[in-house]
Amino acid sequence: MSKNPRLVYGPIPSWRLGRSLGIDLLYPPKTCTFECIYCQLGKTELKVSSPEETPPLPGAEEVLQDLREVLKKLNPDSLDHITFSGSGEPTLNLKLGEIAARIREIAPEVPLAILTNSSLISREDVRRNLLNLDLVVAKLDAPTEELFQRINQPAEGITLQNVISGLKKLRAEMEGKLALQVMLLKSTDPSQHVGNFTDGLLKKLAELILEINPHIIYLNTPTRPPFKPYVSPLSEEELSHATKLLQKLLPNYTILPFEPPKRRNVRRKISKSELKLEVLEMARRRPCRFSDFLYAIPVGGEEVEQAIDELLRGNLLKVHRFRGQVFYLASQ
Ligand code: SF4
Repeated sequence: MSKNPRLVYGPIPSWRLGRSLGIDLLYPPKTCTFECIYCQLGKTELKVSSPEETPPLPGAEEVLQDLREVLKKLNPDSLDHITFSGSGEPTLNLKLGEIAARIREIAPEVPLAILTNSSLISREDVRRNLLNLDLVVAKLDAPTEELFQRINQPAEGITLQNVISGLKKLRAEMEGKLALQVMLLKSTDPSQHVGNFTDGLLKKLAELILEINPHIIYLNTPTRPPFKPYVSPLSEEELSHATKLLQKLLPNYTILPFEPPKRRNVRRKISKSELKLEVLEMARRRPCRFSDFLYAIPVGGEEVEQAIDELLRGNLLKVHRFRGQVFYLASQ
C-alpha cells in the first residue's frame, strides 16, 4: 500500500452525481473554512479564513499524474462526473482552474463538478476558478447569520452576507450549472438551537434562494456520523413537510428531495490488492457503509466482504457503530 494518500479516489457513489471520481485538492489533515457541526470528517484540524493561510497544496502535475494512473484501469466514459471534494474546502486551492483545464485535456467528455461550502465565492479569483467547471454544488444551510454561525462555525471574517453576495455574482457569471445544497438537520439536545427546518426558517431560506436563482436545489439530511453527536437527521415526515413547503414557495425551481443511493449492477475484473486499495481510499475520505462500497465498486458482495475482513485484520480499517449502522473508517 502506498504511504501517501492518493489525490484521486473512487469512483465514489453519489446519489446526485452518480458514479463520480473524486479529486482531493488538499492534503490531510482536514483543512476548511468551516467546522460544520454535521461534518462527517470530524474536527477541522486547520481552520483558515483564506487560501493564503494554507500550507502548500497539490499542484496540477501531481493531480494529473494520479489521475493518469487511475484512468489506466478505468474507462472515463463510465463516469458521470469528476468531482473536486475531499479533505476540506477545495476552493482553498487556487490552482483549481488550471487543474480543471488540464483534466479536460485527458478526459474531455466527463463533466467536472465541485462540492464547495460557498465561503470563498465572494473572492474574484475563486469565482474565476469555478467558471471552469460544469457544475458547482454550493452549500447553503442557514438563512440567518446566527444560525449560519451555529451550524457552519465559519473561520473569522466569513459571514452569511459574503456567501450570499458571492453566490449571486457567480450565478450571473457562470455558464455551467449552480446547485444549492441544503443540509436539513435537528438536535437531540434541546440546549443546541441548530434546527433549520421550521416553516419560518424555510420561508427565509426560500427568499435567499430566489435572490441567488440557482439552477437546482438539493436537499440533504445527515446520515453519517456527525462531528457533534447531538446532530440528528430529520424524520421522513419532517423531510417530506420541508420538501413540500420549499416546492410550494419555489414553484419554478427543481428541488431534489433527499433519497438514499441505489446499487449499480455492474461487474468488472479487479485484483484482490486493487480492491483492498479502493476500499481503503474510500474509507480514508469518509465513513462508509458496506452498501457504499457495493454501490461504488461494482464487484460481488463476497469479494468486498473479503477485502474488508483482510483490511480489518491488518488494522488498516476500523469499525464505527453509529445509530445501529456499521461504518468503516481508515485507521490512519
Ligand atoms: S462539511 Fe464540508 S464545509 Fe463543513 S466542515 Fe466539513 S468539509 Fe468543511
